[in-house]
Amino acid sequence: MSIINTEMKKIEKYAEEHKIPIIEKEGMKFLVNYIKKNNVKKILEIGSAIGYSAINMALAGNNINITTIEKDETRYLEALKNIKNFNLDKKINLVLGDALTLNIEDKYDLIFIDAAKGKYIDYFVKYANNLKNKGSIITDNIYFHGLVEQKEKIEKERLRNLVDKIKEYIAFLNNNPEFETTFYKVGDGLSVSKRR
Ligand code: SAH
Ligand code: MG
Repeated sequence: MSIINTEMKKIEKYAEEHKIPIIEKEGMKFLVNYIKKNNVKKILEIGSAIGYSAINMALAGNNINITTIEKDETRYLEALKNIKNFNLDKKINLVLGDALTLNIEDKYDLIFIDAAKGKYIDYFVKYANNLKNKGSIITDNIYFHGLVEQKEKIEKERLRNLVDKIKEYIAFLNNNPEFETTFYKVGDGLSVSKRR
């Protein structure tokens, strides 16, 4: 096995042990393919966690540049360590902060939304301004462990509220006059939104 594979496995193991919700394998593959197919070079990620998706995206091709935002300091520090370990600190600009209050000026080919599920609409509205005209916004966990489609069975109130929020986000995307969205049942569910 290559060094990259071995190091990636270590991050996956850390995520599992510390219950950090990194993107599912299938979703990651989809993202990497999307980046390759669409010649994506400049990416903004909301929600870095420990850097797993950012590292995988940075490795998808040459000259890929990523800005990724994480508000939890422990995760931010772990991400910093992982990014350095992969020698990607020139390609990945890791920012410690709350994506909802930060001010980002640049424009991106791809914005990957993967932070607090209850705040998806807020991220989308705020960061649509940072999307290049032909760019796409991809969102993770649209399916939410299958819970979005079987709400009756959920007992915990907090979880039910989150599922409601994701449903609101799906409705927001479906009724959005500016963006056209396609939903994919890969990994934990992904949506791809592009300007009409
Ligand atoms: N994209 C990562 C997983 C991210 S998990 C991967 O697939 O590898 C979601 C992360 O979003 C958590 O670490 C959480 O701390 C962070 N987060 C939640 N709200 C945020 C906000 N407003 N700004 C920045 N990060 C946020
Ligand atoms: Mg996710």
